[in-house]
Amino acid sequence: MTAHELTQLESHLMRQVTRACSDFGLLEAGDRVLVAMSGGKDSYALLDLLLALQRRAPFKFDVVAANIDQGQPGFDVRPLEQHLQRLQVTYTLVRDDTWAAVLAKIPTGNTPCWMCGRLRRAVLYNVASGLGCTKLALGHHRDDLVESLLMSALYSGVLKSMPVKLRADDGRNLVIRPLAYCAEADIRRYSEAKTHPIIPCGSCALDPDLKRKQTKQLLDQLEAANPNVRRNLLHALQTVVPAHLLDRKLFDFSTLTADSAPHSADPEAAGQSQ
Ligand code: SF4
Repeated sequence: MTAHELTQLESHLMRQVTRACSDFGLLEAGDRVLVAMSGGKDSYALLDLLLALQRRAPFKFDVVAANIDQGQPGFDVRPLEQHLQRLQVTYTLVRDDTWAAVLAKIPTGNTPCWMCGRLRRAVLYNVASGLGCTKLALGHHRDDLVESLLMSALYSGVLKSMPVKLRADDGRNLVIRPLAYCAEADIRRYSEAKTHPIIPCGSCALDPDLKRKQTKQLLDQLEAANPNVRRNLLHALQTVVPAHLLDRKLFDFSTLTADSAPHSADPEAAGQSQ
């Protein structure tokens, strides 16, 4: 990738991050944002983009970084630490040996990711509170959101995705996902071009999340025929037509009569496909 192409890609990602921040009120003056750094491409990209946004935003906010070393075999935090030092970002590295607990809690043959992420999140909440942070930023992107939407519908029977802004269960933290509009492929290309020092996780490679893998494959197959599939699913998350769903808490069918006013969302438009 040429320097010009990288600049263009970064501008593209910045526009999407800025739009997500604006659409969902993710950042405000005086915020102190803790970026959860896993050592993966998404968190490196998130940190870069938030630092770039910090330089351009018309208001002031702080960005700090944290990594939680959960004691996975072979995890080496040094490349990440050197990277954070190069960026001159305030950071904290926390060693919290939750890996043994992850292994103890997951049934044999299941992916460790769900439990691993859950225990890491609990540590991150404490770190964020301890550092006086107002927001905890996570690196989930558009593809994570649409995969979660499908997985939740297919395997849990609930129509939901990852929230872009969430008040955490502990009641102390606000979790934000500024990469919600960014495509994983763009983040991957960006991270490769920036030569981020990725720290691979060998543990999930041994026991991959099979449902997520299958969902990704399904979306890839569909996108081979229509490259807009993931983009359309993201749009679907923002274009809900309660009257065309079956959740009676969202739409009162019992009072619907031939004289009722038309509902605000246009079902024809919602049904259009690209
Ligand atoms: S990839 Fe999965 S197992 Fe590895 S650190 Fe992330 S959540 Fe944990």
